[in-house]
Amino acid sequence: MKAARLHGIRDMRIDEVPDPEPGAGEALVKVRAMGVCGSDVHFYLDGRIGEAVVTPPFILGHEFAGEIVALGPDTDGPAVGARVAIDPAIPCMRCEVCLDGNINCCPNTRFPASPPVQGGMCEYYAQPAHLCVPLPDSLDFSDGAMLEPLGIGIHVMTLARIKPGDSVAILGAGPIGQVLLQLALASFTRAVYVSEPVAKRREMAKRAGAAAVCNPDEGDPAEWLLEQTHGRGVDVAIEAAWGKEAVGQAVQMARPGGKVVVVGIPRKDITTYPNGPARSKGLTILMSRRMKSVHERGIALIKRGIVDLQSLITHRFRLDQSPQAFELAASLEDGICKAMIEF
Ligand SMILES: [Zn+2]
Ligand SMILES: [Zn+2]
Repeated sequence: MKAARLHGIRDMRIDEVPDPEPGAGEALVKVRAMGVCGSDVHFYLDGRIGEAVVTPPFILGHEFAGEIVALGPDTDGPAVGARVAIDPAIPCMRCEVCLDGNINCCPNTRFPASPPVQGGMCEYYAQPAHLCVPLPDSLDFSDGAMLEPLGIGIHVMTLARIKPGDSVAILGAGPIGQVLLQLALASFTRAVYVSEPVAKRREMAKRAGAAAVCNPDEGDPAEWLLEQTHGRGVDVAIEAAWGKEAVGQAVQMARPGGKVVVVGIPRKDITTYPNGPARSKGLTILMSRRMKSVHERGIALIKRGIVDLQSLITHRFRLDQSPQAFELAASLEDGICKAMIEF
């Protein structure tokens, strides 16, 4: 089969590799759509995310959907021919962390494109059948791929526990920030404010219903936010950026007794924020890790029209154009939000 493999920093090539075989309990999926995630772009640019280091050649990609073409031995689950989204994380379901309900933090998790596990930017992928979630007819494969970033957003919202009438700030309006914006707007919030350096993404946020948007490259977004809220700050500030200052800005934006949720991954593996305001405001700071089992919730939100994920897909590519897709996603040019690779 064909696979887009990372051979070094910013060096992606289309290679011929052996087809995977589905093992016991696994379904072999013909991949039909794959979203390029910010975490993939981190690996593409730096070869690592914190302690996770790529050994090339390496296949990226964990936001995907496709069609089941074969089942391994002793496999229950969707039949051959089923259209499915892949729930990517494979937690062990045996350790204390899993048994305590925190499957998103299982230290034994196998996750596509998290080294050493190869990702799904290739024609076929074997995944446990119970993690292949059937798609209703009204959702296409790119919707299926978008269930992964939507799931990240659902997990953030679950942590944030937004109350009716809360105000929210979102720092970073890439695909995750845009998903969060849509979810926050659907949560009876009083106003959602967005800070984002890319003009096209600010426009998208404004169109989606953000109360106000600002460019963090043109002034301090925390000062701007405090002006917007007459000095009060927001109930919940969500950091969904790569920016090293963004967590500190979120801390400045949150009101006393408020919450900060951190979902963005900093390029250097260090996060700093001013201690004084965080402490004196008694903030609750929550770190969001991947998601739990939320694909069915995501499907329901798309079907009800509560989220519109198609509007986030600004660019579409074929598998052999994966190197161009990554260069564009890394450059943040041409109004890129979500790049989708379709097979
Ligand atoms: Zn992702
Ligand atoms: Zn576990």
